[in-house]
Amino acid sequence: MAGIDASKEGSGRQRRVAVMLPYPLGPYDYTVPADLDLVDGDYVGVPLGPREVLGVVWGEARGDVALSKVKPVAEVFPTPPMPEIHRRFIEWVAAYTLSPPGAVLRMSLTAPKALAPPVPSIAYRRNDSLPDVMLTPARRRVLEALEERGTGSAPELAEAAGCGVTVVRAMADAGSLTVVQVPPRYPASAFDRPGDLPTLSPDQTAAADALKAKLTQGYSTTLLDGVTGAGKTEVYFEAIAANIAAGRQSLVLLPEIALSAQLLDRFAKRFGAMPAVWHSDVGPAARRMAWRGVAEGATKVVVGARSALFLPYPNLGLIVVDEEHEAAFKQEDGVIYHARDMAVARAHLGGFPIVLVSATPSLETVVNAETGRYDRLYLPARHAGAELPKIGLIDMRREKLPARQFISPTLARAVAETLAAGEQVMLFLNRRGYAPLTLCRACGHRMQCPNCTAWLVEHRFQGLLRCHHCDHAEPIPANCPQCDNEGTFAPCGPGVERISDEVTDLFPDARVSLLASDTVHRAFGGGPGAMQEAIRQVRDHEIDIVIGTQIIAKGHHFPMLTLVGVIDADLGLNGGDLRASERTYQLLHQVAGRAGREERPGRVLLQTYMPEHRVMQALADDRRDAFLAVEAEERRAAGMPPYARLAALIVSGSDAGAVGETARMLARQAPRGDGIVVLGPAPAPLAMLRGLHRERLLLKARRDVPVQKLIAEWLTRVAVPNHVRVQVDIDPYSFL
Ligand SMILES: [Zn+2]
Ligand SMILES: [Zn+2]
Repeated sequence: MAGIDASKEGSGRQRRVAVMLPYPLGPYDYTVPADLDLVDGDYVGVPLGPREVLGVVWGEARGDVALSKVKPVAEVFPTPPMPEIHRRFIEWVAAYTLSPPGAVLRMSLTAPKALAPPVPSIAYRRNDSLPDVMLTPARRRVLEALEERGTGSAPELAEAAGCGVTVVRAMADAGSLTVVQVPPRYPASAFDRPGDLPTLSPDQTAAADALKAKLTQGYSTTLLDGVTGAGKTEVYFEAIAANIAAGRQSLVLLPEIALSAQLLDRFAKRFGAMPAVWHSDVGPAARRMAWRGVAEGATKVVVGARSALFLPYPNLGLIVVDEEHEAAFKQEDGVIYHARDMAVARAHLGGFPIVLVSATPSLETVVNAETGRYDRLYLPARHAGAELPKIGLIDMRREKLPARQFISPTLARAVAETLAAGEQVMLFLNRRGYAPLTLCRACGHRMQCPNCTAWLVEHRFQGLLRCHHCDHAEPIPANCPQCDNEGTFAPCGPGVERISDEVTDLFPDARVSLLASDTVHRAFGGGPGAMQEAIRQVRDHEIDIVIGTQIIAKGHHFPMLTLVGVIDADLGLNGGDLRASERTYQLLHQVAGRAGREERPGRVLLQTYMPEHRVMQALADDRRDAFLAVEAEERRAAGMPPYARLAALIVSGSDAGAVGETARMLARQAPRGDGIVVLGPAPAPLAMLRGLHRERLLLKARRDVPVQKLIAEWLTRVAVPNHVRVQVDIDPYSFL
């Protein structure tokens, strides 16, 4: 240490800083050239080996490297420094998830081109020195549009004047418009056009007022609870409007990109402008503008997937997590984190309110509301018809089903009645493909993924067997690879493609649409518009029967849809998932919500072999809170979350022996003590995944046990070989 201190002393005036790099290493010290004036949070280019890489100035130098080895910062980017609150958030997430801070930082540096100052864009101004003679009506409207706004881009003016951009450009060529350069307009930076103010019910007004009041009261978490159609979105829009008026930024997190289209339409109507949109499918130009707009503090509202949480907001004042119960908020690879929980932490660090929105809130959130840790606002249904439709159970043990058919006579009759009334039907099965298992009738051989412990799923329309866990796909072989018999394969069980065939046989005159993530793109020409076009066809009643997986379960509003049939309501209840009942309830409740809205009452039929199961009973009797109470009691009795804490260690590698040995070493060194139980190692249910062998250990602890500290210490006691990986999953949601 003395030597290092001496070198620090000897450094004279040469300043050093720590720089965090977007890799699971560091931070590293760098010297600051005399001509650079660096502050914490500055985005810098620094040498790393032979390359220059992007990093962020992260406080004082650590001084753990001799000065002679410390390299200088190469450049600083003209970008507002990453706010201190955001750096603290990155460190908090890293500590909570036991990830290297650099790996978390990486999630904030996803638009490196945004670090260069944006290029000014071309706009047009009225040239007042020329008289307005001989104007066509279109040209006159362009000039009128400029009266209001001063300058505008060709597309903006064309839209305002209801003409083509060529009209605008021709006016510039003729000299009646002057070309000017204007700073780029960041998305959601100006809300100068009035939107359509909603008419709120007294209940909505009360809830909106309660949320608005919280904007000035520091940190709080509020559950906004109410059935689909109760108007939760309008309520949180009012809080966003108030937050915009206060000059602060707002973030709306959604579980899936597919949900955003409808929300964006509603947002644009309400606010007269679009929010910035952030998810993996956003193109590079829009991504750059959104990132930079957020970093500059100019962009006031972001609607995005979980990664939107890692944009460097300088002035965030409100987060809304819509559909807060959705498992899609959990990121399962890289940094394993739950975006809802991290969002609560972000709000807490920033001292502002967060709103969790759901018609079927997670048990975690409900328990937090009941213990008073979270506030709760309840919105009752606005119209009698907006309540959940009547849910009926079809006891499959009593139905007479022909072999290899999956639609019961009772459900088929209901479909026929609905079609006869000129209304629409949705058949739901949360399983892609034709059949989940392909079996040789001669020798019993089952077609399995070579890389995973999983059956290959037949996708008949593609003529392929696919693994749903890795990218493996192979043509359906003519001969059995085991016994070499030809034509002996039999599909076992249904996927949506098989249901589609059955529907076509049963209702040959019906117009049928099959909506699953892999079929939509093929049927509608791919691209981001494919799903929208598929949804439009259903909405405009060009389709009689829509068959789909969970991508049709939520968000969409089909006015003529009055019957929902669930082919296999029991599907989610199998397997050892802690939240199987809760998730099945949430999913089926959401699907059921598609049937009937407003003036057309709907009905829902669940095909089940377990009609007495409490999930089915709760759905049939519409007793959500009673169901949650029983579920909570079971979790408490079993010592499971939210009454205890869980963390999983997933050991994986290509060498089964080394994986097993590492897992056993971890078990021997497992933490012990009051309120701590370590289960395993056991082969993961997916014992092979993408060619890697996997074993799991599960740590269960009382809520007051400092789990992260225990695990960090635990991992230092075991030497993990280089070719074995140990992933930590705090608060696991997947047990595969
Ligand atoms: Zn065979
Ligand atoms: Zn696979």
